[in-house]
Amino acid sequence: MSKPMKLTILGATGSIGTSTIDVMLRHPEQFQAFALVGHKNVTLMQKLAEQVKPAFVVMTDESAYQALKGKLPKATKLEFGMDAAEAVASADEVDMVMAAMVGSAGLPATLAAVRAGKRVGLANKECLVTAGRIFMQAAKQYGAEVVPVDSEHAAVHQALAGHDRASVTRIILTASGGPFRNRAPESLKNITVEEAVAHPNWSMGAKISIDSATMMNKALELIEAKWLFDAKAEQLSAIIHPQSIVHAMVEYRDGSVLAQLAMPDMRSPIVYAMQAEPRLESGIPWLELAQTQPLEFQAIDEARFPAMRLVKAVLAGEDSLAIALNAANEVANQAFQDGKLGFMDIVSTVEKVMATTKEQPVETLEQVWQLDKQARIQAKEMIPL
Ligand code: NAD
Ligand code: MG
Repeated sequence: MSKPMKLTILGATGSIGTSTIDVMLRHPEQFQAFALVGHKNVTLMQKLAEQVKPAFVVMTDESAYQALKGKLPKATKLEFGMDAAEAVASADEVDMVMAAMVGSAGLPATLAAVRAGKRVGLANKECLVTAGRIFMQAAKQYGAEVVPVDSEHAAVHQALAGHDRASVTRIILTASGGPFRNRAPESLKNITVEEAVAHPNWSMGAKISIDSATMMNKALELIEAKWLFDAKAEQLSAIIHPQSIVHAMVEYRDGSVLAQLAMPDMRSPIVYAMQAEPRLESGIPWLELAQTQPLEFQAIDEARFPAMRLVKAVLAGEDSLAIALNAANEVANQAFQDGKLGFMDIVSTVEKVMATTKEQPVETLEQVWQLDKQARIQAKEMIPL
């Protein structure tokens, strides 16, 4: 029997991270943890380390690192900081890195994994949105296989497998529409964080749940798809599908459309990213179509979801726009979580920052960080204290 695959999980304490560990524990002969990387959650990290006994645990928050000292299994080494995260993402022993930190904070460690030629399961879409060109170019140069974990992109990956890419006419991502799909726009002003985080179909971290409510998540995903599948703007679209059963579709020149269906549970795309074939059991419920709600589809109304208008400009424009969109959204999303910004002001803040962003191609990481920083400063200036 072949040796188990060794994994580093970036963002191990998050929603994707813990689902990855759930999948690993179902297949102990196939997968082992090399390193778990977390930020602040000491209690959960201690529990996870007990379950999978990794060689390393890295905490990127200093006080969490201090608090975890002496609390890990004997064979587990504890380290601190982003440099340590990069080191465990690129170590020789590692076969695969699950990139599941949230935000562009995940970029350095994920890129380190790519540059070490690792297989990378990519949940962190912000990486590709901010540095897609650099990221995909590095994957090619260093022979790293980047496999999508985002459910829509995992679906596209499956619908493309074994088919001629030149015959693809459209890639269609589905969007649930989030919790406010049917609410009058005027009634959205006083939405609370709890309401925005309560996603109807998926259980996810706070940032992406709010991104789903504003439809910014679909905007980020369209940009993600552009880089992952080398798609042109006119080949990319999104459609509302409230049941979240069909995750994406690929249309071919002959009019044939291949869709991927599954119950909405991230363990399915996670296990697919870890080992595509032969397929492994993921623990998700079986899809019983005769018992689910009818599957519905509808166009996305740009007046209700202006993020869709913004993404069109990004897909048609230069790379600097995507960095501005992402950075301003990270700031505005957090400000909403902190009670400093209204729900409806999230996307309008992003729009204002984009309007002042000079369109330019982006070739280096220094440029990425510079533009990211600039957009964050601008967004913060627009947020009332
Ligand atoms: P989450 O908030 O549940 O977890 C985020 C993880 O990142 C945690 O482990 C946290 O410790 C770590 N983290 C947070 N800030 C950090 C920082 N500054 N430095 C280092 N680590 C930090 O988020 P999630 O829902 O698991 O999402 C993770 C990523 O996967 C996001 O990019 C999200 O868009 C993407 N994604 C998530 C889902 C989902 O179903 N949850 C689906 C598709 C894509
Ligand atoms: Mg998704």
